[in-house]
Amino acid sequence: MLTAPAPTKIVVVGGGIAGLSAAHRAVEVARERGIALDLTLLEARDRLGGTISSERVDGFLVEAGPDSFLSEKPWALALCRRLGVEDGLLRTDDRFRKVFVWHRGRLHALPDGFQLLAPTALLPFLTSSLFSLPGKLRMALDLVLPRGSGDDESLGAFVRRRLGAEALERVAQPLVAGIYTADPDDLSLMATMPRFVELERRERSIILGLRRAVRQAPLPGTSGARLSLFVTFADGMERLVTTLAGRLPAGAVELKQRASGLERVGDRWRVVTAEGGRFDADRVVVATEAYAAARLFRYLDPALTTLLEEIPYASAATVSLGYRRGDVPHALDGFGFVVPRREGKALLAGTFSSVKYPHRAPLGHVLIRGFLGGALDAAILAEDDAALVARAGGDLRAALGITGEPVLTRLHRWPASMPQYRVGHLARVETIERALAALSGVRLAGAAYRGVGIADCVRSGEVAAEQLLA
Ligand SMILES: Cc1cc2nc3c(=O)[nH]c(=O)nc-3n(C[C@H](O)[C@H](O)[C@H](O)COP(=O)(O)OP(=O)(O)OC[C@H]3O[C@@H](n4cnc5c(N)ncnc54)[C@H](O)[C@@H]3O)c2cc1C
Repeated sequence: MLTAPAPTKIVVVGGGIAGLSAAHRAVEVARERGIALDLTLLEARDRLGGTISSERVDGFLVEAGPDSFLSEKPWALALCRRLGVEDGLLRTDDRFRKVFVWHRGRLHALPDGFQLLAPTALLPFLTSSLFSLPGKLRMALDLVLPRGSGDDESLGAFVRRRLGAEALERVAQPLVAGIYTADPDDLSLMATMPRFVELERRERSIILGLRRAVRQAPLPGTSGARLSLFVTFADGMERLVTTLAGRLPAGAVELKQRASGLERVGDRWRVVTAEGGRFDADRVVVATEAYAAARLFRYLDPALTTLLEEIPYASAATVSLGYRRGDVPHALDGFGFVVPRREGKALLAGTFSSVKYPHRAPLGHVLIRGFLGGALDAAILAEDDAALVARAGGDLRAALGITGEPVLTRLHRWPASMPQYRVGHLARVETIERALAALSGVRLAGAAYRGVGIADCVRSGEVAAEQLLA
């Protein structure tokens, strides 16, 4: 009598977007190739999604973590298409593409055409109140400066070298703090914005290179980091999590199972959990934060553990405040603002959430979200919840002239949640991947390695699953 081959057992550790994407892709690939699959996803907490969490409160739609994902990087969007939920996606309202920068007590619009680090449109840049005349002249020096060495350098060093200290302090530092919660003098340019390394290599001048790129693919009224390319779900980012979870085999998800070790058992693997669980597997995807992954490898490969521990993390908090529209005199004619470190404020950034996307606040109200903490201001997160909310509210009052008290207040803390890609990060990741290759049947996925955005995390999970089922 013929017996069916034993199914391939895959255990995914970590139920954030990377782990969920890995699990879902494993199901897809198994189905495509007719592989019998036995899947388990272990999540330490009592909920899936990791840093993705949305909640409806009193008619407001609050995003506790990410509020959108980049559609320019195709992987998350492609996943939404395959899941059949593309129709539920919203684009930002392009009428409000503007981003403001807090400078000397008031909000200045980032000049039209400013592309993250450098200007591409002359007139808005020259007439901008955000930069001093010497600052503008220094930025213009980029047009004639020679190329750098092309080695990995910090974003801070790169911007100072090409565009000057003012461009760094007033734009690059706060924009980057809002995305990577990082110190620009530690952040690897190669690992986070390779496009600028490539621009300098190819075109020498960043301004000329960006202008050429914009001419080839024009974006109306471009300001900031091509923000209109960010999309979200009408009912919040958590939709992606619930949809993915709903496509996994029944019983695959095990919540409140914190993996504490990974062992070799013959030619298979065993994941043990702090709760006493034992999960045997042919293949394992570890999709946790790098420091949590490090612990799993400590007896198998201590050097790999050290490499993983060397990826530092920053903490952050979001404070979502709902106001009556009449209490906010500012036109809120943008997606929000960023705050340079030099301004000495608690907020790193503020997002006009109900302007950026519709239906985030009830009629006659607005929802504004402040971002606190990060690598440059870790100390603030030691303050209690009431103090953080008061700090965020105070800064918003000063920035926007708010007269009334918030009608909604939500604080979410994200301790050790943001991996920091320091200079040399990509070389470290390559070493990690080489070490991992010796442990056949195990892959890493998640924000710690090759991109922190949701689209990158989706890709890392999907690639891990594809490699393990190849
Ligand atoms: C406040 C904030 C705002 C952000 N905004 C955006 C944005 O707008 N757009 C964007 O693209 N990105 C944004 N990001 C980044 C993005 O959300 C994250 O990088 C991404 O969601 C990380 O996904 P992940 O699966 O790698 O990790 P996580 O979401 O951190 O998930 C890891 C999971 O592993 C679990 N885990 C850990 N240890 C164990 C263990 N031992 N056993 C079992 N499970 C374990 C954790 O509980 C967690 O659920 C933001 C991040 C934060 C914190």
